Amino acid sequence: DTQREAVLTAVERVTDRIAEEKGHLTDLDSAIGDADHGANLDRGFGKALAAVEDSEDDPAEIVKTVGVTLVSAVGGASGPLYGGSIMTASQELEGGITADSSVAFAEAYLKKVKDRGGARIGDKTMVDALTPAVHTYKKSIEEDELSPVTALSKAVDAAERGVRFTTPIRANKGRASYLGWRSVGHPDPGATSTLYIMEELLAVAS
Ligand code: ADP
Ligand code: MG
Ligand code: MG
Repeated sequence: DTQREAVLTAVERVTDRIAEEKGHLTDLDSAIGDADHGANLDRGFGKALAAVEDSEDDPAEIVKTVGVTLVSAVGGASGPLYGGSIMTASQELEGGITADSSVAFAEAYLKKVKDRGGARIGDKTMVDALTPAVHTYKKSIEEDELSPVTALSKAVDAAERGVRFTTPIRANKGRASYLGWRSVGHPDPGATSTLYIMEELLAVAS
């Protein structure tokens, strides 16, 4: 099944990328948090890959297992946000992965992150990368009628701008908010890891 292969390749690539960026993500989190974001995600994706790599499940079920595993293995703020949102959004892929279902997945994921974490744009969180990315992806597919790969590449560009937007602003959610104005001048770790994951999804889709 080619969709299963694509999903498994995506999990592998994301896991490898997170492992590569572990030190960098930890450095980012040491500036404005508790220096564990790289280690948290590395542990989580390592376990998620191990849980699905020999799976015969359909793609939606594999994505759900990744989410469930992240919730239990990552911990902290990002575990439930990443894992719980992937888990919920995986339902949108139950009929197969298409341009339309991928938009529904992206929207459900964003909604869950926002509902669960309560952060809005400008709070210096992953929401700052995710929101423009999801809106760009949806518009590119539904209004501009671009291919999913082109739409995803525009979404990656939007996420990158979102990460840059987090640098000069003050954190209002999560641990970084404890620093108040001292959080200014550093990019948000969760926005940065969101960008890296999207870059790997684009590489698999291309
Ligand atoms: P912890 O802060 O518990 O140590 P991590 O370091 O793994 O967890 O993750 C920190 C990241 O989680 C932040 O950089 C931010 O992007 C994200 N985050 C924290 N709180 C929220 C929230 N309420 N809403 C959205 N994202 C959040
Ligand atoms: Mg942390
Ligand atoms: Mg922590």
